[in-house]
Amino acid sequence: MPDPLQSKIDALIRSEVRALKAYHVPDARGLVKLDAMENPYPWPEELRAQWLERLREVSVNRYPDPHARVLAERLRAQLRVPTGMELMLGNGSDELIQIILLALAKPGAVALAPVPTFVMYGLLATAVGMRFVGVPLAANFALDEAALQAALRQHQPAVVFLAYPNNPTGNLFDPAAIERLIAAAPGLVVLDEAYHAFAGDSFMDRLTRYDNLLVMRTLSKQGLAGLRLGILAGRKEWLGEFDKIRLPYNINSLTQASAEFALEHIDSFDAQARRIREDRERLYQALAALPDIEPYLSRANFILFRVRGRSATAVFQALREHGVLIKNLDAPGPLAGCLRVTVGAPAENEAFLAALGRALR
Ligand SMILES: *Cc1c(COP(=O)(O)O)cnc(C)c1O
Repeated sequence: MPDPLQSKIDALIRSEVRALKAYHVPDARGLVKLDAMENPYPWPEELRAQWLERLREVSVNRYPDPHARVLAERLRAQLRVPTGMELMLGNGSDELIQIILLALAKPGAVALAPVPTFVMYGLLATAVGMRFVGVPLAANFALDEAALQAALRQHQPAVVFLAYPNNPTGNLFDPAAIERLIAAAPGLVVLDEAYHAFAGDSFMDRLTRYDNLLVMRTLSKQGLAGLRLGILAGRKEWLGEFDKIRLPYNINSLTQASAEFALEHIDSFDAQARRIREDRERLYQALAALPDIEPYLSRANFILFRVRGRSATAVFQALREHGVLIKNLDAPGPLAGCLRVTVGAPAENEAFLAALGRALR
């Protein structure tokens, strides 16, 4: 007897969705959490008090401003969005990726990205019924420009996603190669600058040069992951189309008020980002000094490293047993033997290095 519930699921759920694996978030309770590129620093106490005061004024019985106008104006200034370019806000940049893909998902349409990269591009493309084409990066995780140019011609993608810097590899791709890709692309190119606070470069000022370029940012990696606020900058002609399928109240009132407040105190966040960049260099040096560990240079708030001569998965598990959670990327392919650690507060980085020392013993 076939299970009647299972038969209904098989009959109704799209096969692409059935084949997907849900985005897995491990339980980090009780562990030093260095797996998700979060900013380790809470807001200073005096800021927290002022922030809570601000939240008291929010009328949660009313719908939020559907265009989050005050927040958008503040972001426009803060992010140095070129004049003439528009902004669209999302419930995290994840939602913006989903909206872009939903708008482009004609039958047979292709989304393309160099891989390995942020997994949501492929997951969401598949979820909306597009075909996802991943073009392998070169051995040093640089763009394989010839392969990408060939893939543009062959697959004619509606959109290309480029994470700048890339996750999980941490490097900035060659900007000249990116510009040649934007010029050659038959569709949109989305520069995902989620790690902008740690990167020291951006395509924001190049928006005016290309009519198929969009630049995406998020407040998540800078210390506001819980608020869920992503930002898409580009021409009003594109954003106007995307805006039609954005849910009208996607940025809730508490997020709008909190993000407005945070932007008034951006110096605090910038100081934290500076601290994280300095600690990233220390962590890189400490990793490079360990035998059998090969860290990759990073322009983000995490470091990818390869474990030589032993199982990286075993090292990952030993770290967890010693109370430290990082990200295991060890699987057959270009990331075989690789783990990724977020740059935490100094004490967390020390705990990680001590646990890694013990795991390697
Ligand atoms: C973390 C991350 C995001 C997601 O950001 P949210 O705004 O939290 O949804 C987007 N792109 C890349 C490359 C990321 O690493």
